[in-house]
Amino acid sequence: MSNGNHQETKTLIVGAGIVGASIAYHLARRGEDVLIVDRVGPAAGATGKSFAWINAHHFKQPDYHRLRYQSLAEYHRLERELEGSLGLNWCGALSFDAVGDAFDQRFEGFRRLGYPVEVISHNRFRKLEPNYGHPPGRALHLSLEAAVDPVCACTALIDAAVQHGAQTLFGSDVIALKTDQRCLTGLETSEGTIQAKRIVIAAGTGAEAILQSLDINLPMANQSGVLLKSRPIDPRINHVIWGDRIHMKQQTDGCMIIGEVFSESWSERDPSHIAEQMLGEAKRHLPDADIIIERTTVGIRPMPKDGMPIVGAVDGVDGLYLAVMHSGITLAPIVGRMAADEILDQITFETLEPYRLRRFKDTDTTATS
Ligand SMILES: Cc1cc2nc3c(=O)[nH]c(=O)nc-3n(C[C@H](O)[C@H](O)[C@H](O)COP(=O)(O)OP(=O)(O)OC[C@H]3O[C@@H](n4cnc5c(N)ncnc54)[C@H](O)[C@@H]3O)c2cc1C
Repeated sequence: MSNGNHQETKTLIVGAGIVGASIAYHLARRGEDVLIVDRVGPAAGATGKSFAWINAHHFKQPDYHRLRYQSLAEYHRLERELEGSLGLNWCGALSFDAVGDAFDQRFEGFRRLGYPVEVISHNRFRKLEPNYGHPPGRALHLSLEAAVDPVCACTALIDAAVQHGAQTLFGSDVIALKTDQRCLTGLETSEGTIQAKRIVIAAGTGAEAILQSLDINLPMANQSGVLLKSRPIDPRINHVIWGDRIHMKQQTDGCMIIGEVFSESWSERDPSHIAEQMLGEAKRHLPDADIIIERTTVGIRPMPKDGMPIVGAVDGVDGLYLAVMHSGITLAPIVGRMAADEILDQITFETLEPYRLRRFKDTDTTATS
């Protein structure tokens, strides 16, 4: 990765998480002059603490489901383009966090949307996951879905952007956006001012504070999530397993990654207590595995108030583009490509219209319009 002369940068990207990395890659690949600024470095935010299941596990808003589904296809394209360097595992998922009517509704929802899904029985589950104790009565098998090593994917995208000429400036804190009338002129960082024609804010949970400098309120309701990583063990599970209290996947290096279902079902929000409960639950399901936790993290999910992504140009500030979202691991390929095209070609994609910041104007405030 490189640092260089940043005075003439055309597009400055704040945030070297997976969303900023993907936008940077797609811009640089089209020949754009790009500088990625991060207060730490690649994957330092939610990306590095993410469970990183790539999925279209959503059926209530068909458009949003389709966006996620499209991103699965984009991952295949990116995987070819970047020659397998993203750390993807197309293992499929088994989901049974919903039970009873909710399970049936979800299955029906996916079926109506034309999303490949199969209901599998208890016995079939046992065949697919012979080491998993206490299998559910039935589960949804989502064969198209995947797991990814988020740090590997993020780093690969940034490296690829750099190969296409992007520059990086890590260890630099963005403090404020600078404007002249309604036009962006650059930003103020802990290292001084950087001028830029265009700025993309892909700073995850850091975006809110940066936008405050222009009196723009980003309506966020971020949520925390505990994640455990074990020492490597022999292969135990084959899919992303999405149960009612924890979810699990096993990396190709043998490490188990265990996440909590972010309902309020845990007895308290003390992370170490939750981690203990999660480990107990994992051991209950994999009784023969010697699971030793080597790392526990608490990540903050960048969560817009309505749960949907915020993507697009900001009304009233020429040159400012936002990309802040949960499920950013899933969405980064499609958002990265479309954002780059919107920025460079000055077009707008119909697909992204539901996700503009202006949708909040009646319920929340922005100083932009
Ligand atoms: C526990 C957990 C589990 C998750 N599971 C999944 C999942 O299974 N599937 C899925 O699709 N998504 C999942 N997510 C969500 C997903 O991880 C995030 O949506 C995604 O990582 C967001 O990426 P990002 O690039 O937008 O933000 P981030 O990864 O947070 O990156 C933002 C970057 O901006 C930098 N930054 C912030 N402020 C400033 C500033 N002022 N100056 C300079 N730099 C700044 C930070 O250092 C950081 O590197 C999960 C998240 C968590 C926490």
